[in-house]
Amino acid sequence: MQLVRQKGNKSQQGHRYAAGPRGRFGVAVAALLVAALGTACGSGQSGPDRPAKEKAAEAGAAGALSAAEKAKAAQQARIVAAKKWGLRKTPLTAPPAPKEKPEIHTRDGFEVEDQEEYPNVFTTVPTEDKVVFLTIDDGSEKDPEFLKMMQELKIPYTAFLSDYVVRDNYPYFKKMQDAGVTLNNHTLNHRYMPGLSYEQQREEICGQQDTIQKQFGKRPTLFRPPYGNYNQDTLRAAKSCGIKAVPLWNAEAFTNRMDYREWDRDLHPGDIILTHFRGKEDWKGTMPDMIRHVMKTVTDKGYAVARLEDYL
Ligand SMILES: [Zn+2]
Repeated sequence: MQLVRQKGNKSQQGHRYAAGPRGRFGVAVAALLVAALGTACGSGQSGPDRPAKEKAAEAGAAGALSAAEKAKAAQQARIVAAKKWGLRKTPLTAPPAPKEKPEIHTRDGFEVEDQEEYPNVFTTVPTEDKVVFLTIDDGSEKDPEFLKMMQELKIPYTAFLSDYVVRDNYPYFKKMQDAGVTLNNHTLNHRYMPGLSYEQQREEICGQQDTIQKQFGKRPTLFRPPYGNYNQDTLRAAKSCGIKAVPLWNAEAFTNRMDYREWDRDLHPGDIILTHFRGKEDWKGTMPDMIRHVMKTVTDKGYAVARLEDYL
């Protein structure tokens, strides 16, 4: 019931805005501009080309207005979605994707021997933008409400899928992909990588590359080892399977708390947040509960969630 009422409000506001005083103001400005132009070039006010000029100026002003209106409408939709999904604050909007991608290095202490030959392992993306990145692992919980929530709130995230919990419902993740989410590699069976031989690790990683390519039409470029555990063979195998980067995480989100890697127990610009596709049988809450908690933390600290792929 509440849902329907909010939707009604949203479209009414949108309509009111489009036909509102600013629209008329825009036309008035356009008319003044045309009048000034007419005087400056000395052509007669009633010249045959005047209506065309007027039209062009009006079209220009209307174009500029509609861009502003679009941004306003998007923000309005976000406010409505935040209310609908029980977020106390509206999520902040991330800045545009950086024109130049940051130069990423493997985090100190996270290197393997000859690290420079292998994909980089990092927990934070170097940036001064006040953004964090949301990554969601495994895939056992397939909650349709979660897909709806993220789409309506326009919160970007990146998925790291492990086939053994995904294969019973590929269409769920296809929907996720269709909504703009990148599906990445978290191995076939979620084994502890350092306990496996190079060949076994390669099967786990390349096998998942093949599966994602077959099911979703795109070969991942990002890989995250189960539990964040890896050795040199893992990175060597990942590279041979076509992996370009190995993003780990600097904070982990649950339905009721956030765990931090750093001593200051805080978020930092560019931090990667890990969470999981889990449901009520795994933790005390639903996926939307978890997102509400993440977004409360992130927004209270003044961060926006940005798209990881925009920075890599
Ligand atoms: Zn995992």
